[in-house]
Amino acid sequence: MFSDIPVDVSPMHEGERIRAANMYVELAGPKSIGAELVQVDESVEDGKYEVIGPELAEMTKGEIYPFCIKINIKGEKLEKELEGVIERRNHDLCNYVQGFMHLNQRDQIWCRVSTEAIDAGFKLVDLAKAIGILFKEEFPIIEEISVTILTQKEEVNDFVANAKEIYSLRDERARELSDEDVDVFYGCTMCQSFAPTHMCVVTPDRTALCGAINWFDCRASAKMDPDGSIFEIEKGEVLEDVKGEYANVNNIISQKTQGETEKVYLHSVFEYPHTSCGCFEAVAFYIPELDGIGIVNRDFGGETPLGIPFSSMAGQCSGGKQVEGFTGLSLEYMKSPKFLQADGAYERIVWLPSEVKQSLEGFIPEDIFDKIPTEEDATNISDVKSYLLEKNHPILERIDKLSDDVEDELHEEEPSEKVPIAEVTEPNQEFIPAASIPEMTMPISGGVKIIFKNAKIYAEKVIIKKK
Ligand code: SF4
Ligand SMILES: [Zn+2]
Repeated sequence: MFSDIPVDVSPMHEGERIRAANMYVELAGPKSIGAELVQVDESVEDGKYEVIGPELAEMTKGEIYPFCIKINIKGEKLEKELEGVIERRNHDLCNYVQGFMHLNQRDQIWCRVSTEAIDAGFKLVDLAKAIGILFKEEFPIIEEISVTILTQKEEVNDFVANAKEIYSLRDERARELSDEDVDVFYGCTMCQSFAPTHMCVVTPDRTALCGAINWFDCRASAKMDPDGSIFEIEKGEVLEDVKGEYANVNNIISQKTQGETEKVYLHSVFEYPHTSCGCFEAVAFYIPELDGIGIVNRDFGGETPLGIPFSSMAGQCSGGKQVEGFTGLSLEYMKSPKFLQADGAYERIVWLPSEVKQSLEGFIPEDIFDKIPTEEDATNISDVKSYLLEKNHPILERIDKLSDDVEDELHEEEPSEKVPIAEVTEPNQEFIPAASIPEMTMPISGGVKIIFKNAKIYAEKVIIKKK
C-alpha cells in the first residue's frame, strides 16, 4: 500500500520528535504560517495527490517555509458536521510517516521533516499520498479523497485566511447551545496515544482544549462511530452547578483514565481542574501573589509575568496531569458564558497577551476590558499589580482580603508585629505550583522520621515571618 513511499508509514512513528540537529526543514509553525483543512467536496478527484509550490528538494536545509494541507473528501454517509473531527485525526496520521513531525491543529500546525527522510528520497507528495491512504483506512465512510500540499507563500496566505473563516463558522455554531440545553456531553480520548491518562470533556459551553473539537463535532463523530475515541457521556446528576461537576462525568473520567483522575470541575482552575494533554491553545495559571489568574496562549513568544514562557508553563501541566492552579483551554472557551465561572470569570483575570485580549473584544465584559493588563502594560507581577491598582481592577478586593487574612494570621502568632503583603510575597519570583520530590526524609525530634516519596507539595499561601 505504501510501497512507493520511501519511508515507513506506521503508528509506531507517532512519538517521533525531530529536533533541530536532525531537521531538514520546518514547515508552518510559530515563525511562519500554515493550516490544515478537511472539507466535504462533491467534486473531489479521488487519488489526486499534489504539491503546489516548492517541493522539499527545492527548499534550503535549516529554513522555515509556509505550509498547508488541504484534504477534500466525499462519501455517501459523510456529513459536513464530521469535517472537524476528521481533520483532528490529521495530527496522528501525519505522525505515522517516518521522518515527518506534525504538532498542533488548525492554523497552529507546526511540522518538521528530518534529514534521514530526505536522504531516503522522501517528498511532500509522498506525505499527501500517505495521508490519503490513511484517512480512507481510518474512516471507511470516506470513499474518495484528494490531498493538496501548499508551500507557495501567496497560496498559503489565501488558504489560511479562508480556513480561519471556516474554523470561526464551526465555533460560532457551537455558541448557540449551552450546557443546560443538552442531556449528553462527550468524552474524547484521541490524545491518549501520548497522554494515556487524559480525557477531554466536551460540552456546549466548553469546547475541547485543542480548540478543534466542539460539541456538534463530537455528536457527529459519536453517531458515526459510537465505539470510537469520541463517545457520549450522559450528564447525570449535577453535583456542583457553578464549578461544573457532574457525577457521571466523574465516573467516566475515572474509568477512562485508569483511576488517575476521579473528579473534574469543568469551570475552575482550583481543586480539580480539567486535565491537559498537551495540545491546548492556551493555559490558565493561578498567580498567588495577586490571587488572580493569568492566561497565556501558544503563540505568545515572550515570558508571562511569572518569568516563564508558555512552553515552561505547558510542561508543568501537560501529559494528562491534574495540577491545581493550571488548566489547558481553548481560545473559544474564553468566549463561553461559563468561562472559569467558579473562579470569578473575567473578574479574576489579571493578565493576558494583547493578541488574545483583542480577539476577545465583545466577550470580556466592557467594564473590565481596560482593566486587564497585557505584555504591553506589565511584564512582571509588581507591574501587573501597579496596573491593577491604577485601573481599579475588581481583583483588588481579593488582594485586600488576602492581605487582611495574612495579617490576621500573623497577629494570631505574633500580635505585636505587622507585616504588609508586599513583605510576604516576592514580586518577581517564579511561581512553582508543585514541588515534586522523588524522595525526601524529614528529621523530626523524638526519633521520628517522616519520609516523602514522590510527593507533591502544594501551597496556596506561604508565610515568611521575621524572627
Ligand atoms: S485535545 Fe482533547 S478533544 Fe482534542 S483531540 Fe485531544 S483528547 Fe480529543
Ligand atoms: Zn491533546
